[in-house]
Amino acid sequence: MRPNIDRFRKDMEALARIGRVPEGGVARFSLTPADLEGRELVIGIMKGLGLSVRVDAVGNIRGRRQGRDPTSPIVMMGSHIDSVPNGGDYDGPTGVMGPLEVVRTLNDKGIVTRHPIEVVVFTDEEGDRFKKGTLGSAIMAGHMSWDEVRGLKDADGISFEKALEAIDTTGTPGEVVLRKGEVKSFVELHVEQSARLEEKEMPIGIVEAITGSSHKRIRVFGKADHAGATPMDRRTDALVPAARMVQEIERIGRSDPAASLVSTVGYLDVKPGAMNIVPSLVTFTTDVRDTSPDNLAAAMKEIDEMIARVAGERGVEFEIEELEYTAAVALSPAIRSTIADACKKLDIEYMDTASRAVHDTSHMAHVTDAGMIFVPSVGGKSHSPDELTHWEDIRPGLEVLYEVTLALAGSDA
Ligand SMILES: [Zn+2]
Repeated sequence: MRPNIDRFRKDMEALARIGRVPEGGVARFSLTPADLEGRELVIGIMKGLGLSVRVDAVGNIRGRRQGRDPTSPIVMMGSHIDSVPNGGDYDGPTGVMGPLEVVRTLNDKGIVTRHPIEVVVFTDEEGDRFKKGTLGSAIMAGHMSWDEVRGLKDADGISFEKALEAIDTTGTPGEVVLRKGEVKSFVELHVEQSARLEEKEMPIGIVEAITGSSHKRIRVFGKADHAGATPMDRRTDALVPAARMVQEIERIGRSDPAASLVSTVGYLDVKPGAMNIVPSLVTFTTDVRDTSPDNLAAAMKEIDEMIARVAGERGVEFEIEELEYTAAVALSPAIRSTIADACKKLDIEYMDTASRAVHDTSHMAHVTDAGMIFVPSVGGKSHSPDELTHWEDIRPGLEVLYEVTLALAGSDA
């Protein structure tokens, strides 16, 4: 008896019906009514499987299957069910419903593991509501404190702390942080979100490292002037130097010899924003990522220096504000080889790969042995209604996750 893709599919489809938007995809932002409905669905499935469910003070859902030795460290698996705007059905839910199907299979076979198993749903991985991603896992790993997050406000001015009142939680924020030795391992099953597995026709990717990312907001200050009456040599135009900076940021990304660095300006705002006024303020964001911490740090420094240089040459003031920084992280060699062993046992091909997106595992990897299993994404599309992984392509992921769980949690069967 192996994990059953049809049962998994039923759970995935039930979740995908929640928060559907007319323009396509789902909108399940953290702690909104759609997310609450999704949470209820998952909690219902967990209880149906006999898991004891605890929702911690920041909303992380932890469903526990008791082990023979209840005091031994937890074998943890999980992901998220919140989404981006017009999000897909697989990014996140695969890593929640997958472990639940693993638990269901263990139940069917009457297997009692030595270690307790927990399936976790982390709060606000995507960060679209409170503008900080991987909230739940960051707090659990001790990387963000309650005081840093409680006051974060959404677009309507509702704070994270206030939004949490919509759900029943237990314990204090301090108790969210994992105790030393509490967790034995963490594994996240996830869709790849790029097309490498598909191109190489590989059913499984074993993640070696997760990218680090730096998000910053840059402001370039010029002076608003009449576009007709102000001679060219009397202007302090904020947009022209900003445009140079944008081009340089792309050049820096392109010039990485390892081709692992990516740098993006995805937002740009020009004030006052009128056709006949010299721009006085330009605000733009940078998103810079690399799986090598050294490479990322070097690129961040190069960009900061370039901004200062261009601003100096053009005589404009500037400001660089750090919004978010997540360090690149190498995943546990022990877990990677456990996943590889499971693939060999099942005669499933695999390849080592890196994750170009940040995940809850980025935080968990700092507090326990952590690993990620990727299954292919059609065309590499993600964060889009077109996100797709065929059910048949998730099946190997479920089977590998099941074997990995048995290996980590220990069983006599
Ligand atoms: Zn995800």
